[in-house]
Amino acid sequence: MTGTLQPDFTSALSRLIEIPSVSSTLPELDMGNMPVINELAGWLENMGFNCEIMPIPGEPNKANLIATLGSGPGGLVLSGHTDTVPYNANRWNFDPFKMQEANNRLYGLGTCDMKGFFALAMEAARAYLDQPFKAPLIILATADEESSMSGARALAAAGKPKGRYAVIGEPTGMVPVYMHKGIMMERVSIIGQSGHSSNPALGRNAMETAHKVISEIMAYRTDLGSQYNNPGFAVPTPTVNLGCIHGGDNPNRICGSCRLDFDVRLLPGMDSQQLRNGLRKRLLPFAEQDGVELALEAISPSIEPFAGSSDSPLVKACEELTGYTAESVAFTTEAPFFSDMGMDTVVLGPGDIDQAHQPDEFLALDRIQPTIDLLQALIRKYCLN
Ligand SMILES: [Zn+2]
Repeated sequence: MTGTLQPDFTSALSRLIEIPSVSSTLPELDMGNMPVINELAGWLENMGFNCEIMPIPGEPNKANLIATLGSGPGGLVLSGHTDTVPYNANRWNFDPFKMQEANNRLYGLGTCDMKGFFALAMEAARAYLDQPFKAPLIILATADEESSMSGARALAAAGKPKGRYAVIGEPTGMVPVYMHKGIMMERVSIIGQSGHSSNPALGRNAMETAHKVISEIMAYRTDLGSQYNNPGFAVPTPTVNLGCIHGGDNPNRICGSCRLDFDVRLLPGMDSQQLRNGLRKRLLPFAEQDGVELALEAISPSIEPFAGSSDSPLVKACEELTGYTAESVAFTTEAPFFSDMGMDTVVLGPGDIDQAHQPDEFLALDRIQPTIDLLQALIRKYCLN
């Protein structure tokens, strides 16, 4: 199928599924997305789109693609990420890299999350290739959404694209999503002094400081819960999860160092840097108290909350077109980056989140035509009329 000038939906998606593009914070699993970007750029250029491939700083095998049809200010951005999560081949009943139709579904890694959306966006655009565009249609393909979000960060740094409306086709089961929490992943590192356990004065026990740190983080969580509440979320408060702890080596040795990792899920209106500073203020006094070194740092750059509006013109239009009332979700997306660039942004896609990041990931066949219809209605509304 390689080399098809303008492949139809099925051949485009099966080709995209064939090209592995796993992204991961584990370097041994991380692949890069250039082959997917090049394939998409080739097709979109043949369809008349103007294609800009934007390299990701420090990532030679990764890029974003901004493909634009028509010109002028404003316009509609249809956005997806080109990377997939890693897969567990022996838990799949299908080949993750060979799209297969069965049970009224298309199986393959990325069918739902979210290479399927590119094939659908191209299929939707195809109907209008010969029409004069009043405002541009931009198909945007990003890198690294599943790991560092370096693609979205590069776009935000460049202030591109400059659309007015953005649809991110993440799996929402066709429900418009206007809000999600943010996430910060943090690490407390404590360095004390190891020594023989028979005499506590011979060392400074990092695990004992960790105990105080844990209690303080739990008190902090209670405080956050009483300060912030948003009934638009199934879990209406910010959450703090103690995720993993590593420290010490032997019962008869004073624990010399300890490391604690936790996450914070932020509600719209909360700011990660401010939270980190607040936490530092509460935790750093333990260093002096216990005579240990203590640091609080981000494990990875945080993702801010997405605080769209349920009344925005795009959300309203999507509610009308899909028949679903807009909702919040519990997962994060690239939406806050787009929303910060001034775009009216909605997360809305054909897959279901239950199938994302799972073996035997699939896209149901009965979602295909409704998605094409929806995207075509949006293209007519924002680019043609
Ligand atoms: Zn996704």
